Amino acid sequence: MTARGGRGDPVRLVLVGAAGRMGRAVAEAAAADPAFRIEALVDQAAGTGPGRWTTDAGEGISPGSVVIEFSAPAASVQVAGLCAERGAALVSGTTGLTGEQEGRLRAAAARAPVLRAANFSLGVVALRRALAAALAALPGWDVEIVERHHRRKADSPSGTALALARQALAARGWDEQALRHGRHGHLGPRPDAEVGVHALRGGGLVGDHTVVLAGAGEWLELRHVAQDRGAFAHGALAAARFVADAPAGLYTLEDVVTPPAG
Ligand code: NAD
Repeated sequence: MTARGGRGDPVRLVLVGAAGRMGRAVAEAAAADPAFRIEALVDQAAGTGPGRWTTDAGEGISPGSVVIEFSAPAASVQVAGLCAERGAALVSGTTGLTGEQEGRLRAAAARAPVLRAANFSLGVVALRRALAAALAALPGWDVEIVERHHRRKADSPSGTALALARQALAARGWDEQALRHGRHGHLGPRPDAEVGVHALRGGGLVGDHTVVLAGAGEWLELRHVAQDRGAFAHGALAAARFVADAPAGLYTLEDVVTPPAG
């Protein structure tokens, strides 16, 4: 027996934001995998599809269950508190949280396993590793990030773009002041200590991130395209399996995927 039930037992899932685009993708992927059993589907909006639907985020969260939430920042904070109180684990993918709200998720991780990721696709984990190598190999090159998403996305830039930008800032030793969100007006030459971030919105694009590293006479582009939400859903389920057996603590998708070679 592990702390969260016997190995081989299905992982008991509570999906928060279950009526949304991501919630539906996770429900579909989980329903197709016998390693999971969906205990409750939580949403403030009316849900469609089979299962036990509720508007009460507390319903179904019990010791040993795993909550997967793709919803809204206030709900992320609420379910993190419930998981900490009740001994459940949390996989959290909502973006656009304030620093204070992120702090409350970190506080919950003192009492429950919490895995946060701005992007649950495994390809983005590989992109971040490739970016680390490129930044180290190309000191002094300019870094710009272009992200594209569907027209209904609420927060800009995307959480993934911010994570990539912060990775570049950390590698270069610059603080958040060096972030440049779009450009407009007579700004003069680009400062060296700057990471540009540009958000495009339109149509139904699921998620597209390009990091451009520009040097003298050449540039390099690292690009990831999420073609459908199944990319994030499968990463979220891998994360759910991981936290189901993990002690309290704050985790990222890096903890789930195979460590880099070497
Ligand atoms: P969506 O608007 O389609 O769905 C969100 C759902 O959450 C809605 O059904 C809404 O009714 C529900 N909701 C909001 N507040 C709630 C509350 N307090 N209680 C219960 N339900 C509540 O949005 P989406 O495209 O599914 O994205 C949801 C979040 O996940 C966004 O922040 C988005 O940026 C993020 N996201 C993250 C990843 C990732 O890999 N980390 C991938 C895609 C989307």
